[in-house]
Amino acid sequence: LNSRLPQVGATIFSTMSALAQAHGAVNLGQGFPDFDCDPALIEAVHAAMRDGHNQYPPMPGVPALRQAVATKLQATHGQAYCPEREITITAGATQAILCALLAIVHPGDEVIVLEPCYDSYAPNIALAGGVLVRVPLDPETFRPDFDRIRAALTPRTRALIINTPHNPSATVWSDAEMRNLADLLRGSQALLISDEVYEHMVYDGQAHQSVARFPELAARSLIVSSFGKTFHVTGWKVGYVAAPAALSAEFRKVHQYTVFSVNTPVQLGLSRYLADPRPYLDLPAFYQRKRDHFRAGLAQCRLRLLPSEGSYFQCVDYRELEAGRALNDAEFCQWLTREVGVAAIPVSAFHADKQDQARASQDKIIRFCFAKKDATLDRALALLRQL
Ligand code: PMP
Ligand code: GLN
Repeated sequence: LNSRLPQVGATIFSTMSALAQAHGAVNLGQGFPDFDCDPALIEAVHAAMRDGHNQYPPMPGVPALRQAVATKLQATHGQAYCPEREITITAGATQAILCALLAIVHPGDEVIVLEPCYDSYAPNIALAGGVLVRVPLDPETFRPDFDRIRAALTPRTRALIINTPHNPSATVWSDAEMRNLADLLRGSQALLISDEVYEHMVYDGQAHQSVARFPELAARSLIVSSFGKTFHVTGWKVGYVAAPAALSAEFRKVHQYTVFSVNTPVQLGLSRYLADPRPYLDLPAFYQRKRDHFRAGLAQCRLRLLPSEGSYFQCVDYRELEAGRALNDAEFCQWLTREVGVAAIPVSAFHADKQDQARASQDKIIRFCFAKKDATLDRALALLRQL
């Protein structure tokens, strides 16, 4: 077969979750909670089903949910998005990102990603016929290097994808970095896809700097988010895109012919649940406590901790370990799963290019997900302490 995606196999998340299951390992690999969501959210979805809301919703989403998203964006970032024309409910962030790219990229257009980055970006750009332009984040700090981004911008740059809080490095862009980005893009036609799925997981009193806070950036941005992350329901696959009306109209043309619309009772349940902001306002404290607990345990292991400013990820460097000397990060994650009983994700998997991946795999950095019950984290820590 003449494959459209010849380089693509099973994702690292499927691979590591399957390996964790096969070996009965504690799965701190693929990013998902091992605890359930708020029963009130389940009840709200049940109620919508019982009330007979079981047919197609409007193509761009249930109006009450679009209104709830607009209210949340206004309250958290002070930016008005029109629920009728500027917010679209999607089948998770994954569908949103693909459709955003399909909507804006013409064959041959360049799309800049900042690596390491989420694994769907590069194949999605390929499917849209775009040319992938890979710009490394700073290799020590994983922060954006604006000189390199500036050097990568050309008149053919159609879009730049950013992601804060960042998967896998758990960095959070500062206000100054967002302003730098705005300065840099001034005068360029480039659009922005801003992947903000971890928007409500920012720690130590920092604020999430959504592009929505920066009118110049917001004007050229499709903001992507995911209720799966915010409300502990990754399996529901519901998210949203917020973008100015003209961009949203283009986005909806593609959305309309990919899924047309998204699960009605789940949308209605979410809209009712969002009437109370506490569940997402309480999320930073909820995850910060888990992060601190996990980091305190890791500090007693022979692993070097990297910062975790946001998201539910914690990266560590294992170069001090005897067992890790000869192993690159992918091999080490396999070994850790099979022999120690803890699954993690190699950070090199967030590089699209094979050579780059090979180089990054020698940085010996792996990613743990701490969206787990304390008992799960403690089981993993007990095993990691034996390293
Ligand atoms: N972007 C990033 C950075 C992610 O970590 C994820 C979650 N795996 C997604 C997008 C996809 O989100 P969803 O599960 O809503 O499709
Ligand atoms: N976003 C999740 C992660 O980074 C994985 C989602 C998936 O399995 N595709 O772990």
